[in-house]
Amino acid sequence: MIIYGTGAKDLGSKKIPGAICPSCESQNVSIVGIAKYFDVFWIPMFPYSKKIHAVCTNCDLVIDKADIDQRTANKINLEKKSFKIPFYLFSGLIIIACIILYGIYTSFEHDKEIADNLKNLQPNDVLVFENDDNTYSYGKVITISADTLFFNFSNYVFEGGSPDEDLYLTDKEKYSDFYNAETYYYFQNTLDSLYNTGDIFDLYKLSK
Ligand SMILES: [Zn+2]
Repeated sequence: MIIYGTGAKDLGSKKIPGAICPSCESQNVSIVGIAKYFDVFWIPMFPYSKKIHAVCTNCDLVIDKADIDQRTANKINLEKKSFKIPFYLFSGLIIIACIILYGIYTSFEHDKEIADNLKNLQPNDVLVFENDDNTYSYGKVITISADTLFFNFSNYVFEGGSPDEDLYLTDKEKYSDFYNAETYYYFQNTLDSLYNTGDIFDLYKLSK
């Protein structure tokens, strides 16, 4: 359940010299600024309005716009800019932007790491291949001879989303025949292009 709503932030007040309250005729007229914002789980996401009101601090009247003379109205308009919306009312948007940027950054780093490791495969490293039916199969490096790499492929495929290393290790423990004993080979440049086309989805660096 997402709890969301709106909130109001008092932006402070400022006395308007020379303005007179239409009700009690006191000269204690101030303008107050109010920012309204949208919040999710009590975290301000973004402000959606900024309003200023003229109030009499003597009788607490919120003075109607129609009752303000033009000169005072001009003064109020000039002061409106000085009511700044605090930066933290954008907290939610900033948090979301940071999460997205962090996600882009880590996925970029992960891609780079795979590309690097792919050029330096060792026995026991595991390649994760994405199949056409959205399942994943595994190829374990057995031996390497110059630019030819020999693999055993898994008898089992992973389905239901993309696997990670921990899931792989858990799954592998369950089956004594997880890998087929038959050996296949790839050339290094074939592996590089399979990674570029997305057929190689991940690489587990399990060589020690
Ligand atoms: Zn008043």
